[in-house]
Amino acid sequence: PQVERTPLIAGNWKMNLDHLQAIAFVQKLSWALKDARHDYADVEVAVFPPFTDLRSVQTLLAADKLSLKLGAQDVSPHESGAYTGDISAQFLAKLEAAYVIVGHSERRHGHGEDDATVGAKARAAAAAGVTPVICVGETAEDLAEHGAAAIPVAQLEAALAELPKGAEFVLAYEPVWAIGSGQAATPEQAEAVARALREAILRARGEEAAGSTRILYGGSVTSQNIAGFMRQPNVDGALVGGASLKSDEFSRIIQFKK
Ligand code: PGA
Repeated sequence: PQVERTPLIAGNWKMNLDHLQAIAFVQKLSWALKDARHDYADVEVAVFPPFTDLRSVQTLLAADKLSLKLGAQDVSPHESGAYTGDISAQFLAKLEAAYVIVGHSERRHGHGEDDATVGAKARAAAAAGVTPVICVGETAEDLAEHGAAAIPVAQLEAALAELPKGAEFVLAYEPVWAIGSGQAATPEQAEAVARALREAILRARGEEAAGSTRILYGGSVTSQNIAGFMRQPNVDGALVGGASLKSDEFSRIIQFKK
């Protein structure tokens, strides 16, 4: 049975925009979106600023009627205590963060995070009521050696082994070779992996979770290619990096027409 899944367009700012720039940016984005309200009524939109911006952006969004959601880019696997530099999921929940990205390739590869750590972060987020956006994806070498789906599916299964049954999560398929490269996957490539990921959710979590879990595509998404991804039956949104930093471009992406 086909389940309706609300599309999610997520803007991952990475380490861009300080809190003053963030305020100016969100105000600009709000203006761009106000004019277009009816064009994205059925789409959920979330921004993922750096930690130091979260409080400023939260204050803006709370006063705003656009219902933009807030997300963070990472989270500690621990609840509290002697973890210098870590940010807990409880802190994020207090800031009304709806989402947190875990397992982004820049954390897996740049900070040596393994599947167990990614799973523990997802579990900590879910326990605090913050929905984890679990990122998976293959490198160019993985693609040549194993095909597209094997590594992302294995990463998903490892993360789900740590995440309690019944916990809500969003999945983001981001081929590492497509991130920041200008070389997006084709819609057909994204769909093939998204379908394999949904089958893995079905095996691990059953029919209801497989039907309701949103799977995003990420990697060089722009206003020019978003519609092709959104037409795919198993792709429910996008995780947008570079193109989420320009308010006009991000608002065009949000207003994608299938
Ligand atoms: P990109 O980044 O859109 O700049 O390729 C996507 C991501 O890393 O989430």
